[in-house]
Formats: sequence, structure tokens, C-alpha cells
Amino acid sequence: MIAFSGNPLDRASDKRGDAAWLTQKRRDRTARVLPLWKLQPLLLGPENATGGTTLGFVDGELAAGLGAPDAVEVFLGLDGAVPYFARDISSLTDPLAASLASHGHFRDARSAASLLANHEIAILGQAKALIDWHNRHGYCAQCGTPTELAEAGYRRTCPVCKAEHFPRTDPAVIMLVTAGDRCLLGRNKRFTGGHYSTLAGFLEPGETIEEAVRREVYEEVHVRVGPVSYFASQPWPFPSQLMIGCFAEAATDEIEVDGNEILAARWFDRGTIQQLLSGESNEVGLPRRDAIAFHLIRHWAEGV
Ligand SMILES: [Zn+2]
Repeated sequence: MIAFSGNPLDRASDKRGDAAWLTQKRRDRTARVLPLWKLQPLLLGPENATGGTTLGFVDGELAAGLGAPDAVEVFLGLDGAVPYFARDISSLTDPLAASLASHGHFRDARSAASLLANHEIAILGQAKALIDWHNRHGYCAQCGTPTELAEAGYRRTCPVCKAEHFPRTDPAVIMLVTAGDRCLLGRNKRFTGGHYSTLAGFLEPGETIEEAVRREVYEEVHVRVGPVSYFASQPWPFPSQLMIGCFAEAATDEIEVDGNEILAARWFDRGTIQQLLSGESNEVGLPRRDAIAFHLIRHWAEGV
């Protein structure tokens, strides 16, 4: 399973503009609200828990009293008839001091994601990315006026110039470059230890996915790429990217790393990758198993 994918909630996007419907869902006695404090979700249980951790959804009435009266609150979706929301309670100095004291603890989203079940990681990603966007887009980019939350949190509108602002998702390409029975992996300057992974980079305005893949690969390792094919994608809420996973067939062989982003890169044959995947070899480290980079590598090496 690719982390942050597989969100089970029905986003009910056709209903979000209906203020009466939304108010009714928010007041529903079954409504569940996830408090986030400085982008950290509430998790149930003590801080030293290592397993069986779940998101700390609280009931709607309790949540309404947390933080500022006009705190950002976003609709996440429906699970059957049960409505789910997230609320930014960052204005509280000590979020656990009062009503949440017995509920659990706050934990940064990256570390929380390592403790949660897949479906909750995806919900956390949605909540975190949305609230983060609201925090950073309080003013109209066109005229500077404070904007107002609309459409259950999926839009901000400017009361003066009427501009509409929508939550951003920044597309990035992440690609496994292959040449027959070999694939190319690189060591990014940000990686610790001896880890190797696929290459990646952001799309630029006016660029197709294929063009971005070719440009980034050439920029990082000076290899020319021919056909590009789409594999799968991964939402990455830090702050709000979409990783578009592709396979890229190399047209040239010689590697010359840029030395800036990528410190080292080399070709690995399929047998070596299979040994790294099975643990028979630990010559280099591979990406985390829930990362799309890992799935690209495994799919190529094992056909799964
Ligand atoms: Zn404006």
C-alpha cells in the first residue's frame, strides 16, 4: 500500500456548497472532528504507544469549544452517514490542558503517519494538507484583502475583488529510469546513510508529465529519456504535493550526476535489485516500503 493513498471517506464534493446541508452535518450527533494543533493531529492513547494508534476524532460539540470561535474547520467526508471534519486549534497555548486532557496526545504528522493504519494515514494527509493551505492563504493573492473560508474548506473567497482561491496540490514527477534489464537509482544529498532511490522533481508551468520526467532526469544525471509511462501516484502532504510515478526508458547510457541534488547515481541490474528487495543483499538501502519509489522499483523488478 502506498502511504497517504486509499482514503475511505466519501468527500461528497457535490454537497459541500450547500450551506444548509453542511450545517446539518456539522450538528449531527454522530459528527466526528479531528483536532489539529500546529498541524499535529490528536492521536488516541499515550505518547509512548507504538502500535494500535488511531486518530483522535472527538465529538462535534466538544470540538466546537476548542480554539478560536472562528477556527478553520474543514469537511473531510462521510463514512456511511457519519460526517468527519478537521479543526485547527492552534490558537490554544496548551491544547491538552482542558477538555482533551484524557483523550491522547498531539504528534507531528510524519511521525503520526508511521503509527496509523493505512486508511487513517490517508485521512490525516487530507486534513493536514487542507488546514496547512488555509494557514498560508489567509490573504487574497490578487488584492491583499483577508479571504474567507467557503465550500466547507475547499475554497477561499475574497470579499473585495471576488477572486476565488482553491487548495493547491503541487505535482511532482518521480521516475524509475530503466534500460532493458537495468534501472538507474541515485543518492540524493538529503538521504542519510547509503540509500538509493528513484529520481524526482517538480513540474514546471506549461510542462507535460513526460516533458518534466525527461528534463529532470537529464538535469540530475545527464541521461536522455525516450518513452515515459504512468504507473501510480502518491499524495504527499508536506505541504501538499502529488507524486506522479512513472517509468522512463533511457535512450543514453552514460551517467553524469549534477552533484547538486544527486551526489551519486548508478545502474543496477534486475538480479541485484531482487536481492536488495529480498534482503539477501544490503549493499545499499532502498526507499521505505510504503513510498511510491519503492513500489516503482518492486514493480519493475518483480512485476508486482
Ligand atoms: Zn481580492
